Amino acid sequence: MIKGEKIYEGKAKILYKTEDPDILWQSFKDDATAFDGIKKGTIIGKGVANNTISSNLFKLLKEHGIESHFMEKVSNTEMLVKNVEIVMVEVVVRNISTGSLCRRYGVAEGIVFEKPIVELYFKNDELHDPLMNDDHVVALGLADQEELATMKNQALRINEILKEFFSTIGIKLVDFKLEFGRFHGQIILADEISPDTCRFWEMGTNRKLDKDRFRQDLGDVEKTYHEMMQRIVRKS
Ligand code: 5GP
Repeated sequence: MIKGEKIYEGKAKILYKTEDPDILWQSFKDDATAFDGIKKGTIIGKGVANNTISSNLFKLLKEHGIESHFMEKVSNTEMLVKNVEIVMVEVVVRNISTGSLCRRYGVAEGIVFEKPIVELYFKNDELHDPLMNDDHVVALGLADQEELATMKNQALRINEILKEFFSTIGIKLVDFKLEFGRFHGQIILADEISPDTCRFWEMGTNRKLDKDRFRQDLGDVEKTYHEMMQRIVRKS
């Protein structure tokens, strides 16, 4: 497979064409942003960690019957992915209260929900990814009813699989964001699953093991990405 022309550069990843129009080359960067790009930085080793973590988690999900855009890890920081058309809806699943949920509803951090909460956000940086409901998604033509049901069901299933996996490595899966894409008429999981897109708290201590260390200036940012990679690789 040949790495061709760059077609997209986002905050954390770059996508390149390959000779096969169905396949893209996805490269993970060390660049980090938070608060809609207001806070910028570099987390050395993040590209390696997020590529490794995402590859392992996509493989785990595949073993449980969840299809994703992941095809193959091709280097420390790169993977081949299916060339999906991204659905412009971010699906967030929450098991424990924190982050924007606490700010929006004025509740304390750390409430363990009996049932996970699924939220939908319009993937639009200019509008700061506003929260939306099912009717907005369908009315605005971002996805049809069937696609939306697939994304929400898969998100809940993914939550169960990942919660179980992380519990075996001493980590609570607090919340995470997923993106989906269309590939030959099918909705499949896309983007990445990493400490950039999930919140992980260590069982027993509630030590934060994710991008909140960068967002909140908690220190040990590089070390934390490396530690998460090691914990996941050892178990995979
Ligand atoms: P919150 O809405 O509390 O900021 O985020 C909820 C979860 O979704 C967190 O795990 C967070 O990392 C993830 N998340 C939400 N929006 C985004 C986004 O635009 N980019 C990334 N990388 N993660 C997001």
